[in-house]
Amino acid sequence: MSEIVKEVLDEVINKIIQDMPENPPNEMDDEKAKKKLKNERRRLYYNKNIVKEREKSKSYYHRNKERFSTKNECPCGGRYTSVNKNIHYGTRGHLNWVRWTSCNIELQK
Ligand SMILES: [Zn+2]
Repeated sequence: MSEIVKEVLDEVINKIIQDMPENPPNEMDDEKAKKKLKNERRRLYYNKNIVKEREKSKSYYHRNKERFSTKNECPCGGRYTSVNKNIHYGTRGHLNWVRWTSCNIELQK
């Protein structure tokens, strides 16, 4: 690892330690601080092993390529991939279908 990267990492770690409260006022803040530290550690690990991590995510994509690209049929008549499922649920066409079906259910009562 180059000296510059080491310096930057040390700086980031020092900043995290400085930002962490010595006596957290309550449990919630303690949990938040722990989560923040965990995220920072994860990010540092990722940046240290960036080449390896990128290879890992590439191979994960290739292993699951078929699953990511298969289209699912929605009862509204639309189609979506698993990656775009939540985006589809927010589209005007899908929301109109939801409104329409809920109106029909209310009329049937
Ligand atoms: Zn839909």
